[in-house]
Amino acid sequence: MIEVRGLTKRYGPKTAVDGLSFAVRPGLVTGFLGPNGAGKSTTMRMILGLDHPTSGTALIDGRRYDRLRRPLTRIGALLEAKAVHPGRTARRHLTWLAQSNGIPPGRVGEVLDLVGLESVARKRPRGFSLGMGQRLGIAAALLGDPRVLIFDEPVNGLDPEGIHWVRHLMKRLAADGRTVFVSSHLMSEMALTADHLVVIGQGRLLADTSMARFIAENARTFVRVRTPEPERLRDALATAGIEARQGPEGALEAERPPAGPAELAARIGELAAERGVVLHELSPQRASLEEAFMRLTHGRVEYQAREG
Ligand code: ADP
Repeated sequence: MIEVRGLTKRYGPKTAVDGLSFAVRPGLVTGFLGPNGAGKSTTMRMILGLDHPTSGTALIDGRRYDRLRRPLTRIGALLEAKAVHPGRTARRHLTWLAQSNGIPPGRVGEVLDLVGLESVARKRPRGFSLGMGQRLGIAAALLGDPRVLIFDEPVNGLDPEGIHWVRHLMKRLAADGRTVFVSSHLMSEMALTADHLVVIGQGRLLADTSMARFIAENARTFVRVRTPEPERLRDALATAGIEARQGPEGALEAERPPAGPAELAARIGELAAERGVVLHELSPQRASLEEAFMRLTHGRVEYQAREG
């Protein structure tokens, strides 16, 4: 479990993290989202004792990072900046980490195997691709078999197979009952990986909720309908309390919260059949995490691209 209470970080006049409080619970993958510059990395660095809070606390299983004995056995982390000695082989890098944390040397082979780097264990990370570097970073995070894991942008530089592998690794770690806290700017990937979300903007908490609730509360779900008889269809839907608005390209967009899109599409199909109205399209449109995120964080982006 990670607990952040009133966490604040100022760099001179700049407030990077502003009174953040949230908890990351075991058994779930918790996604950490926010526009660029929102304060995600600063928060993660403070949890890991790499940066000192101006005020507030960050606790790992009830203790500050600097009070943990053999910290790698408590919390593992992959941060964006690679902290690998470029001249040491992958195996020696991990062996050195294991020795300095009282981790049995046999664990090195296990994690190399787990991340698929066995065959390059004797190579120096200098020649590694970005994706191999990420795998080595993940191996280091897993070395002490910790109950709490933090990953900052873990799929950066990975190919589709690597992304798939990371997704399943995160889920497996959470299913083991571990605490998994992961940031990513890839919304579609996050939507497939995380069960819970912590969303921040300009250093402040915007949402701390399940993935399903976050999407349901911040994005629109509707059914797109095309028909050559829009007026007749509108009348039919109105009798059932379904509002149909004009959408783009001649389509109608029907909504009746809290009905889910599949349920609503079925009802619309039935009403159209009863009245003999021809339909050319009837498609439930599911709200996406990306849309929900954009709506919630709009106007909270530090550096927005200017048009023109
Ligand atoms: P994110 O990870 O969400 O993109 P960061 O935590 O990297 O955001 O940054 C949050 C804000 O704090 C940004 O405005 C950034 O410029 C600023 N910041 C981060 N680190 C420093 C630092 N060492 N000195 C000054 N400002 C910093």
